Amino acid sequence: MNTIDKFDKHIMHSYGRYPLVMQKGEGRRCTDEDGKTYIDFGSGIGTNSLGYCDEKWADAVCSQVRTLQHSSNYYYTGVQAEFAEKLCETSEYDSVFFCNSGAEANECAIKIARKYSFDKYGKNRHNIITLVNSFHGRTIATLSATGQDVFHNYFFPFLEGFINVTANDINDLKSKLDDTVCAVMLEYVQGEGGVNALSQDFVNAVYELCEAKDILVIADEVQTGAGRTGKFLAGEYFGKKADITTMAKGLAGGIPVGACLTTEKCSGVLTAGTHGSTFGGNPIACAGGIAVLDRLNSEGFLGEVNEKAEFIRKELEKCSEIESVSGLGLMIGIKLKTKTASDVAKKALEKGLLILTAKDKVRLLPPLTISMEEIGDGIKILRDILEE
Ligand SMILES: *Cc1c(COP(=O)(O)O)cnc(C)c1O
Repeated sequence: MNTIDKFDKHIMHSYGRYPLVMQKGEGRRCTDEDGKTYIDFGSGIGTNSLGYCDEKWADAVCSQVRTLQHSSNYYYTGVQAEFAEKLCETSEYDSVFFCNSGAEANECAIKIARKYSFDKYGKNRHNIITLVNSFHGRTIATLSATGQDVFHNYFFPFLEGFINVTANDINDLKSKLDDTVCAVMLEYVQGEGGVNALSQDFVNAVYELCEAKDILVIADEVQTGAGRTGKFLAGEYFGKKADITTMAKGLAGGIPVGACLTTEKCSGVLTAGTHGSTFGGNPIACAGGIAVLDRLNSEGFLGEVNEKAEFIRKELEKCSEIESVSGLGLMIGIKLKTKTASDVAKKALEKGLLILTAKDKVRLLPPLTISMEEIGDGIKILRDILEE
């Protein structure tokens, strides 16, 4: 039986997959079972932030595998301490809880927000405002938080305590921010929702209104974080620092990791026994994360990310089939005039370019390490498809 047949037989059919069996990767290119290579403009799905099998990253990870692959959170490890220290320094947060995915990081944020409020104000101040078109994960709690009706099927009952506000609608926000609310949760750039950045005015209003009522702001930076937008956190673009920020996807360069970061205000909320994760803070993930942070913090790295982002955006603007380009930095949404994003993605695959979609848009999340030449090669394939 070939690989795809084995998948069909034994793996649940919860994904729509492209007919591509990936075998290996190097730099910004990967190779399928038949030896065909592809330029990856999706970084897997925003995960392989340093590209495929980056040498320093791979050395750090392999060396950790051979030293201590896992222990338990009953004990301390040096590598978790080092990752936490570097992550807190880089993000300018006070403390972190480690888990293994974006959804889990958001679960942790939800628990912290509710307990912070319970500890201070007692019961009935548990509601969390999330935005229409948001995406926060696939667990029951994070699905409940996700502000898209398409996700609210089959798995009833969903969790109560989430109220949706239309993104960028300050009046809607004001009308729903009552004294049952403990937090507002947002993505600065909605990823799965169509690569749409929030307006500065709306973000300002969220922070002002929340601060006045001691309501926490939770920034879901699972997709926007770790240099994706050209800053370490997208909040920096807005001049804002949330009380709680969640990260995952590209943070450890393609090893499962999640992080829930808090300012000092919330650092003491989770006390012994109130939260945990068997694999959270896993040494291999931490070693991968340290390698990613060292690269992001290396001189000029994020500056180059911004130059690349500007170059891609300029090149895309030359294409007559493109209606508009959205997002921030190397998180790019492309609205097309006549073609559909899924058709373009299929054609791109045939021609050796991997791209993503988000709603009706083409979405690009190229590795942060991509070269100008590789960008040029990928854009050429994309333009040929769009202009044919
Ligand atoms: C991908 C994503 C998640 C979910 O992350 P998982 O690791 O799949 O659980 C949550 N929030 C945002 C903004 C995401 O992009």
